[in-house]
Amino acid sequence: MQSDRRSARACPGPPRDESWRDSALCAQSDPELFFPDKGGTAAPAKRVCARCPVRGECLEWALAYDIRFGIWGGLTEDQRREFRPGADAEGDVSEGVAP
Ligand code: SF4
Repeated sequence: MQSDRRSARACPGPPRDESWRDSALCAQSDPELFFPDKGGTAAPAKRVCARCPVRGECLEWALAYDIRFGIWGGLTEDQRREFRPGADAEGDVSEGVAP
């Protein structure tokens, strides 16, 4: 069963490199934008995310760590749910970002 061990070791697991956070555009924005109250709008945060150079890394992080709150990678929690294993994902990531 050596091949099983080898493939388990090759599994990358969740991303550990957080250096993308250094380029996060939300670090220069009001953090409350990214955690709108129930019934509030995610549009202002999504506009920031749409211009963010590390949007992909951010979304990958949120999905890997199953983060349940806030706007990450330009997507709300409900939108990220579609990307979870077993979800019925139909759209691509760009659908969730406001122009
Ligand atoms: S994609 Fe949005 S939430 Fe993620 S780092 Fe960029 S600005 Fe912040």
